Amino acid sequence: MPGAPEFRPTYAVIETGAFARNIETITRSLPARSRLIAVLKANAYGHGATVLAWVCESKRVAMIATALLEEAITLRRVGITTPLLVLGPLDARGIATAMDEDITVGVTGPEELAAACEVAKDRDVDIHLKFDSGMGRLGLIESELQQAAEMIRATPRLKLEAVYTHFASADDNDTFTRRQIENFDRMREAGIDAPLHHLANSAATLRGIVREGDYVRCGIALFGPGASAPTDPVMTWRSAIARLKTLPANHAIGYGTTYHTKRESRIATIPVGYADGYSRRLSNNGDVIVRGLRAPIVGRVSMDFVTIDVTDIDGAAVGDEVTLLGDGITADEIAARIDTIPYEVFCNVSARVPRIFR
Ligand SMILES: *Cc1c(COP(=O)(O)O)cnc(C)c1O
Repeated sequence: MPGAPEFRPTYAVIETGAFARNIETITRSLPARSRLIAVLKANAYGHGATVLAWVCESKRVAMIATALLEEAITLRRVGITTPLLVLGPLDARGIATAMDEDITVGVTGPEELAAACEVAKDRDVDIHLKFDSGMGRLGLIESELQQAAEMIRATPRLKLEAVYTHFASADDNDTFTRRQIENFDRMREAGIDAPLHHLANSAATLRGIVREGDYVRCGIALFGPGASAPTDPVMTWRSAIARLKTLPANHAIGYGTTYHTKRESRIATIPVGYADGYSRRLSNNGDVIVRGLRAPIVGRVSMDFVTIDVTDIDGAAVGDEVTLLGDGITADEIAARIDTIPYEVFCNVSARVPRIFR
């Protein structure tokens, strides 16, 4: 993780206080005995997992989940003691390493379960077992349950702490989600169950599709993507005007000359580009904030620079702060402009952008 910006004034401020409030907001909305598993995979959706994990103490969250074992080990290495869950998949070597590091494994299929049972021949192995209730990606399907149940029964040192599933369309299709819940319940009744269940992602949690006592696995909602969540943004991405010039009408701007000034224009160059994760699809298709006002991106986003039109922003000057994300520009807005989801907007903010934690 790079430190404070040294020479280039482009950086992301990460508000740990907003992240803590978002945890509270979600936790307060949960039914009795339900708890939050904070999903901090992919460097906490680009926000900085090793710092935000410190906000996730055991009194606040039940567990922190990551996608990769590497990500979970990184958290252990910096001293995080909160229970950790790796969503996987892993092979036997990964499972044994996870146990060495006191990391729970989310088992996603029969091969992985067999590997976990192998490791559990001579040590305790803690797992959460995933069912595929309809998404068709990870998890055991119904025809695999009987053999899985036999494997579990034959392995006394395999500790099945939870069974879980993942929703495919929790943001827009409650009917499909309800059917997934029915499938999940039927799979449990078919012979594999555990004291704890967790089903809901952020979308299902925000829609109140959580049963009493079930845990929830929330990622995106913790980062305040915009109108799609009642939580606050955590990341503000800023830069500054590096070059400012007045150009005559009908002057080309940027690679491919995709924009021509319509009038005499004040054109500012910002030292941020697609190498920083500022999507090239924002070319001629986005705004930034300068002096509290929106300024449009004109011309192509290039690897290291963006050009904006500040003709209508009184007093705009070299050195002025520029907000790329935040101050009213949400990840939801950018995602809509470039036909993706806020997850990708956050994850794309590259390692070249220093994160400053407040
Ligand atoms: C990423 C992930 C989540 C979190 O999803 P959000 O939509 O960000 O809340 C939950 N569960 C699993 C299995 C995941 O992979």
